[in-house]
Amino acid sequence: MSEKLWQKYYGQPNPLYGNRVQFGMLLDLNKCIGCHTCSMSCKQTWTNGPGQENMFWNSVATQPYGKYPRKNGSKNPADWDYRFSNLYQDTPKGKFPKLWQFYLPRPCNHCSNPACLPACPTRSIYKTEDGIVLIDQDKCEGFQYCVKACPYDKIYYNAVTKKSQKCMFCFPLLEKGQEPQCVKTCVGKIRIFGNLMDPESTISKMIRDPSLGVKPYDPEVNLKATHRVINPIQSRQYRPDFGTIPSVWYVPPKNVPPAEVEKYFGLAMGGLIDEPHHVEAPVKMKDI
Ligand code: SF4
Ligand code: SF4
Repeated sequence: MSEKLWQKYYGQPNPLYGNRVQFGMLLDLNKCIGCHTCSMSCKQTWTNGPGQENMFWNSVATQPYGKYPRKNGSKNPADWDYRFSNLYQDTPKGKFPKLWQFYLPRPCNHCSNPACLPACPTRSIYKTEDGIVLIDQDKCEGFQYCVKACPYDKIYYNAVTKKSQKCMFCFPLLEKGQEPQCVKTCVGKIRIFGNLMDPESTISKMIRDPSLGVKPYDPEVNLKATHRVINPIQSRQYRPDFGTIPSVWYVPPKNVPPAEVEKYFGLAMGGLIDEPHHVEAPVKMKDI
């Protein structure tokens, strides 16, 4: 994306919430092996209590067929079969030899324009000065408007405590100078965490300068003409068309047909989402 557009979003305090720090994450999907260590370390740390059995603040789903097997076709997450989270998922799309699939790890995006926040009638959701989106558990009354409003399905309702709950970017660990659990424990070392608003942070440098990241592999070019320049892969946001300006970024998978990549990571900061805006009726993820 252009440096001008980057500066517009991250070169100044957030025009909506005033935060001067925006913690974010960059995940290189070419390195994810779908081991679910991130999800398990998150679960062990934050969601091992009553009512949290089916909560995955960080989830990893194989694409394009990455949905948990559902008992009797039920749409209620409580009825989904979590025992074998990759069962039936690792089925590639396409015709041999052009087959593709990839793993998509997803925490909350801690959006710059979070759809969950204005949906809360009790004003329990807020953005910290570090740009982290939190739900005040003392104020939450469990209306679940936020659950419906988040287009990424990243807020979970705890039927025992009767509160809505979500990923906190491990802010209690950040306060101790540590990184989030999913970053620390990632087996593939695919995750980089840092302040998007700091022009010198590794994460902002890598997103702004794709030459620091992954080059697509093209056998025609790689094997036969080493002098030819291969355009590096630009980092993208997942479903930026939802308009919430996610702070989680991805290096898209290089083995996936470009038209398919556009479905997941299209538009990005390419200019279409020119102004932060609230999405009145977000399109749900189910269309992917
Ligand atoms: S991903 Fe969903 S829950 Fe997280 S900040 Fe964005 S809108 Fe809110
Ligand atoms: S721990 Fe890392 S490599 Fe394993 S599934 Fe999570 S993001 Fe992918």
